[in-house]
Amino acid sequence: MTSPVWRPFTQHGLGEPVPKVVRAEGTALWTEDGRRVVDAISSWWVTTHGHRHPRIMTAIAEATQRLDQIIFAGWTHEPAEQLAEELIAMLPDPLAYVFYSDSGSTSVEVALKMALGYWANTGRPRHRIAVMESSYHGDTIGGMSVGARGAFNRSYAPLLFDVDTLPFPDEGREQTTLDALERLCRGGDLAALIVEPLILGAGGMRIYAPTVLAQMRAICAHHEVLFIADEVMTGWGRTGTLLACEQAGVVPDILCLSKGLTGGAVPLAVTVATAPIFEAHRSTDRAKMFFHSSSYTANPIACSAALANLEVWRDEPVAERIATLAARQQDRLNRLSGHPAILNRRRLGTITAMELGAPDSAYLSDLGPRLLAFFRDRDLLLRPLGNTIYVMPPYCTGEDDLDRIYDAIEAAVQFV
Ligand SMILES: *Cc1c(COP(=O)(O)O)cnc(C)c1O
Repeated sequence: MTSPVWRPFTQHGLGEPVPKVVRAEGTALWTEDGRRVVDAISSWWVTTHGHRHPRIMTAIAEATQRLDQIIFAGWTHEPAEQLAEELIAMLPDPLAYVFYSDSGSTSVEVALKMALGYWANTGRPRHRIAVMESSYHGDTIGGMSVGARGAFNRSYAPLLFDVDTLPFPDEGREQTTLDALERLCRGGDLAALIVEPLILGAGGMRIYAPTVLAQMRAICAHHEVLFIADEVMTGWGRTGTLLACEQAGVVPDILCLSKGLTGGAVPLAVTVATAPIFEAHRSTDRAKMFFHSSSYTANPIACSAALANLEVWRDEPVAERIATLAARQQDRLNRLSGHPAILNRRRLGTITAMELGAPDSAYLSDLGPRLLAFFRDRDLLLRPLGNTIYVMPPYCTGEDDLDRIYDAIEAAVQFV
């Protein structure tokens, strides 16, 4: 029986098996046929504390006793008000206003519209967006436009807008990136720079130095170019700190958060902006309002899940769990040092990555799918990006599961 489901990032013509998950808890997914699968990539980077964290599940259940979706234009509700207040208390100054949406991609679209709206409403229209080479910001048209171009979006190229691309600040080439940014800023038409702080996710888990992030931020500030941090993946402790930006001592003008915002339980996103960006839209002139909404803006059940996530961060030793997971992963990574086929072993917080064999295999080469099947057969959810294997487990992942993950990676060297 074929399923009528059209899956994301799936080539249906290859007939690859699609395991059905019937239950999730902590690091584990249980399949219909009774297998316990280790979720080594946090279900595509969303699950932070672990699947079905009891507090978050309870908060969702309780929220459903009072509210479902409520229109958020002209009306409000307690979960959204409280969440915005708690987020602003938790996030660094001068981030001050929270705009809700429902996915990372949408939070990026909102950020780009806020940036252009800011310049338009202050009477100094600017039109260009600068991006970093190999970035990923989502699969909507704006998200794709500011992300890397390639096989993923070639068919849609006519719909994508033009951006200015900075070279990736590889070690030793940082100044090239900074010089390129400086030149673009001097051009005068740059509205904003959008970056994934410290690490590119879908772009291959490439890491760059906090000093580069700090310098990029400083150049933007000097030229009044808005600095957008897309922390959709890096936020909520992934890189070792609540925000990756913290490690560079920078605060963006606009911050995008999603994935771990609800601990990964239900969809929700926020785009957080500074007062000047909000003020540029506040006026008695209706033409200056922020023209954006989606049906499920600030869904009360999702906001309640996010409030529970904040409680977990406040009341449970999350930072310690992250530090422990980071240290254990570093140890496992060190043990792979004897393998000449495992290249570029690296770690940032709870994320580790390495390349298998020659570093030039493309995403569409068949190494990725072979590795995927190899790991699936070993009851591991790992999803290599081409020949880049990365591990991004929930923070509750224990020693035994880490052993299983890294033993399998070690065994995977047979493919090269
Ligand atoms: C996942 C991701 C997005 C897109 O988020 P969705 O919720 O999948 O739309 C945007 N930016 C970054 C950095 C991401 O990792």
